Amino acid sequence: MLLSAVTLASFRPYATEQFIIDLTPRQPVQGGFVEITVRVQDHSRATMMTGRLAGQTLYFESHDSVAWHTLGGIPVTATSDLQLTLVGGRAGEAPLIDTVSIPVQEGRFGVEQLRVNPRFSRKPDSALSARIAREYQRAMQISRASFRTPRLWSGPFQRPRPTRVTSRFGRGREFNGELQSRHLGVDLAGSVGAPVVAPNRGVVALVDSTYYGGNVVYLDHGRGLVTAYLHLSRATVSVGDTVLTGMPIGRVGATGRVTAAHLHWIARFGTVTLNPLSLEQLPLAAFDRPEP
Ligand SMILES: [Zn+2]
Repeated sequence: MLLSAVTLASFRPYATEQFIIDLTPRQPVQGGFVEITVRVQDHSRATMMTGRLAGQTLYFESHDSVAWHTLGGIPVTATSDLQLTLVGGRAGEAPLIDTVSIPVQEGRFGVEQLRVNPRFSRKPDSALSARIAREYQRAMQISRASFRTPRLWSGPFQRPRPTRVTSRFGRGREFNGELQSRHLGVDLAGSVGAPVVAPNRGVVALVDSTYYGGNVVYLDHGRGLVTAYLHLSRATVSVGDTVLTGMPIGRVGATGRVTAAHLHWIARFGTVTLNPLSLEQLPLAAFDRPEP
């Protein structure tokens, strides 16, 4: 029957020789999280499932060994199709290996003009450069280590502040007329002292004062997902604390490289920085509840 074939095709757009792959969103966006579900073509059980997307290892989990679930991330710089490689283990048989091309939607980020204090547009001296590099390396280390943490989050995700977005993710930034960077976070409004809460369960991986971020808190949600909270007036948690969805972790501030108080919210999957608001668009229920 043609109609059901078409319907099936629209729900299973990424069928390969070995696997059936469901993506949410169906056509992932630059800088966005993606929820990936994989089944073996004949719907048989697999003993394990792993994969790679955009340089990051994917750790799948499953309730029934048939439907395997993971998060993934589409880099903001992904310009065309991304290769998703999958490896499915089968008892007593050679593993199934396949690669599928995923078309990537353009992010349409836009550009904003900023005028900043010349103090900030000067090239940093060598001591400051070393500090910035060290802080960046530490952030990447936290992200890589997160793959060894079991999944602590369980959907859905909540915003750390129930306020409006004052600067969107991905916008190109021209400082004094020169394109210098992209805004790889989301700014949420708040005055100094306003509470910042955890968007989901996680472990506090870092509390520190950094050059760009001022007072920061990093949360490791496990299996590669890390979120960070910048420019805080203060942190109200310590490294090693487990926080639950909605628990306070700090207070809005204007510390670090900012002109006014706000929360800069970061999300990373592995070392890829992504739009934290894209987490809100994922169903995520299949991770915690077996499908009927
Ligand atoms: Zn920001």
